Amino acid sequence: MCGIVGSIGFKNTKSFIIDGLKDLDYRGYDSAGLAFSFGKRINIYKAVGSVSNLEAIIPELSLNPYMGVGHTRWATHGKPTEINCHPHQSMHGLFTIVCNGVVENYLQLKQQLQSKGFKFVSDTDTEVISNLLEDRYFETRNIMRSIEETMAVLTGSFAVVFIADMDPKHLYFMKRHSPLMIGRGDHFSLVASDASPMVRYTDKYIDLEDDSYGFISNDDVEIFKNGEKIPFQFTKKSPDITVKDLNGYPHYMLKEIEEIERVIRRLMVEYYDKGEFLFDHELMRALTESDHIVFVACGTSYHASLVGARYFDILGKSTSTHIASEFAYYPQFPGRKPFFIFLSQSGETADVIHCMTTVKEHNIPCLVLTNKKGSTLERGCDFSLLLHAGLEVSVASTKAYAAEVALLALLANAYSNRKEVIRDLEECCGVIADIDQNLKGKVHEIAEELKHSKDIYFLGRGFDYDMSLEASLKLKEITYIHSEAVAGGELKHGPIALISQDTPVIVTISDNVTALSMRANIQEVKARGAKVFTFVTEPLANDTDTIVVKNHKRYLSPVVMSSLAFYFAYYVAVLNDRNVDKPRNLAKSVTVE
Ligand code: GLU
Repeated sequence: MCGIVGSIGFKNTKSFIIDGLKDLDYRGYDSAGLAFSFGKRINIYKAVGSVSNLEAIIPELSLNPYMGVGHTRWATHGKPTEINCHPHQSMHGLFTIVCNGVVENYLQLKQQLQSKGFKFVSDTDTEVISNLLEDRYFETRNIMRSIEETMAVLTGSFAVVFIADMDPKHLYFMKRHSPLMIGRGDHFSLVASDASPMVRYTDKYIDLEDDSYGFISNDDVEIFKNGEKIPFQFTKKSPDITVKDLNGYPHYMLKEIEEIERVIRRLMVEYYDKGEFLFDHELMRALTESDHIVFVACGTSYHASLVGARYFDILGKSTSTHIASEFAYYPQFPGRKPFFIFLSQSGETADVIHCMTTVKEHNIPCLVLTNKKGSTLERGCDFSLLLHAGLEVSVASTKAYAAEVALLALLANAYSNRKEVIRDLEECCGVIADIDQNLKGKVHEIAEELKHSKDIYFLGRGFDYDMSLEASLKLKEITYIHSEAVAGGELKHGPIALISQDTPVIVTISDNVTALSMRANIQEVKARGAKVFTFVTEPLANDTDTIVVKNHKRYLSPVVMSSLAFYFAYYVAVLNDRNVDKPRNLAKSVTVE
């Protein structure tokens, strides 16, 4: 979500900024802008919508700008309009800035600045930073002191890169809680919110620490913290980056659904070898010593954590599961020795980072499951397990959800030293391959039948309910069709009032314990006129079922059945001509609270 790229001394500033913004666009955004500095002159371009819209309004440049900074904005304060799009200039034009994140106390600061005569043109919180810098500069006539004094009053999370009009030889930055990296090349320096725009040009990175600030120039980098210059090291290792490529698929989402089987196989390779689990001994000890596991996550990862909690419940471990944005305000530390498991595909989910900070303040051990090595959560937690799902470009997560569930299955089975999980996952891979090859056509037919529905309901119990929550979310995210997931037994406690001939119901049955109750639910909704479609596992199926998947272990059904659900959401979105990989209003990694 939202991205920053900047360069100084680079041979082709325009293409670096534009290509870099495109590299970051998988994160989701609603407008894009950039500033070029030609020494005495700064040119700013902004466009609502895609980076291509921005590219289209930039004229042929006769001179290469000495430095440039670009931004993809995911609006948090003020609508996605051209005026609100970054870069923002301070009132007298001294500072031109882009910012990822949120300034929490922006209203108070804005009022203070207005009372000093500062005028604002946008609704953004970012413009407060540019005017604050200018206000401090009028006072101090010193850029570094202006940064220090600005950072001292800002609260929230931000990564800021800016051009200072009075110093055309340096590009400045400051950061707190939002990711920002520097890349060094031969007579040029780069800055970006993740490494992907820089990988083609350098393998020398600096991962900036929180509360650091400073500048880059063509030949230099200087980083400060609390008024002191701090040393830094370049890391050579390029972060886990896979080049984006559709490989002939029409959309990333379809490609990524079809990668699920491979991702699960990769997880087995990563975490099991020669008859042994490869999880860190300290991690396993911390898990064993704890008397309560608390899962904290958001969205799709939250749905995966519901499954993970069930795994540990079954093993007799007490667990609880929280939505991160709720836990952040109502933290709970159950048991005498709790252990926290965070899930975040990007490792940068702001709500989860907030919770991690709280948990660390209580000195409680924590683990994160994430797809991003080097991310804030990966660095901040005591333990981390990588999802090894590869780059997920589609905003709607599919393979990362499957990876989260499969990894939790591996972890829970390692905890109970149950090595049969490998055989179970192998079997699960076979069932998924069968879905990819033989069943997705049938899902397409259902999608065709339901594409004009206004509401679609999902029903399930136990693991099937957990999966239904994710199925319903995925459908909402990319088709904009209203949908709800209902636990079978809850139907008659309210939601059945909504069931009619206009509300198709998709029922998942993979558990013999609840299969009969689910069959009764089917009768209940049919009696209200609803058309029913069923996803059922072979041993529980009958002739009336819509899709029958091969038998597999009940605890892995969220992985298996979700691939059917992902295909379903995907086909309905395509049939409705939706922007599948970049659904409206959504962003890939939610880096604001
Ligand atoms: N809060 C800023 C805005 O709304 C930045 C949002 C972003 O991170 O893109 O302009």
